[in-house]
Amino acid sequence: MLRKALAYRETHQQRFVQDLSGLVRIPSCSFPGFPPAELQRSAEAVAELCGRAGLEHVKLLRFPDAPPYVYGDWLHAPRRPTVLLYAHHDVQPPGREELWKSPAFSPAVRGGRLYGRGACDDKAGICLHTAAVESFLQGAGKLPLNVKVLIEGEEEVSSRHLPALLEKNARLLQSDTIAIADTGNFETGLPSITTSLRGLVAFDVTVRVTERSLHSGMWGGPLPDPVQALSKMLASLTDAYGRIAVPGIYRDVRPLSAVERKSFASLRYGESAFRRQASALPGVQTVGGKSSPAVKLWREPTLAVNAIQASSRKDCANVINESAWCHLGLRTVPDMHAGKTAKLLMGHLKRMAPWGVKVEFS
Ligand SMILES: [Zn+2]
Repeated sequence: MLRKALAYRETHQQRFVQDLSGLVRIPSCSFPGFPPAELQRSAEAVAELCGRAGLEHVKLLRFPDAPPYVYGDWLHAPRRPTVLLYAHHDVQPPGREELWKSPAFSPAVRGGRLYGRGACDDKAGICLHTAAVESFLQGAGKLPLNVKVLIEGEEEVSSRHLPALLEKNARLLQSDTIAIADTGNFETGLPSITTSLRGLVAFDVTVRVTERSLHSGMWGGPLPDPVQALSKMLASLTDAYGRIAVPGIYRDVRPLSAVERKSFASLRYGESAFRRQASALPGVQTVGGKSSPAVKLWREPTLAVNAIQASSRKDCANVINESAWCHLGLRTVPDMHAGKTAKLLMGHLKRMAPWGVKVEFS
């Protein structure tokens, strides 16, 4: 059965890539301000792929105010387990247009790779499922187990309706195991199974100094600059080696087990492989202490300032801004508690706030 499915996959590879390109052309961005009609269109395109793969009972699952989810199944393997295949059809906003080598929603092949918003995350995940199912059903006539497919439409905006949707469709989605195609491969050409992901503690920080922004020539001197105050606070979050310097943050981190140590080492994932994959610029050092890249990526917490704003390039003027804002995200690992971590971080930022500036979290 597997041989026939693989042969089918081989001869239809080009068409599978075309299917993926077709999905990438639909700007199915789930963020506020983007047209919801595109999410409807992408859900319908996914449903069509599911139908062509040979899945049955293909339909859009609707929930008030939620982008449509897509469902399909093939349940003709009695006494065999049922796997639920998950992916999502919504995408992130395209971001800064000038940074794209080709337009975000015009998929382009460069060096044997397909580029476009969603080409990887997560329309490749959808096509992975539909191509696999189609290869079995059309190439070998059947699947070795029962399959249910759920393709979400709001993953990039925190899956707001997913818990309620799961509850409402509990029987429909009942399965023995779930395969999520929304993670990366360890290396190009090396298929990988991700067994766990880091968690996230994230919040906004606002530093306020005055009611309104003031002219820097008239008022600068006695008045603290909120941007510099926030910068000092952010700079205090890491030490000289880029390790998190918030007291207590590593206290609960579960030590690496012998199995993990052995398994990470077997990947032979060193500094140079990491630098290449991350496209780090020459001379830029890696940070975070002495652990190997795999341990830093998978088993240690890390912190990033995801966005920072006071004024903007467009509105830049000779002023002391009234406030400065940033969004912080800390990736958590096993045994770290989200609420406790947030408390430690916020407490540290407050203690480090200079000059009596007002600090707010949201
Ligand atoms: Zn994703």
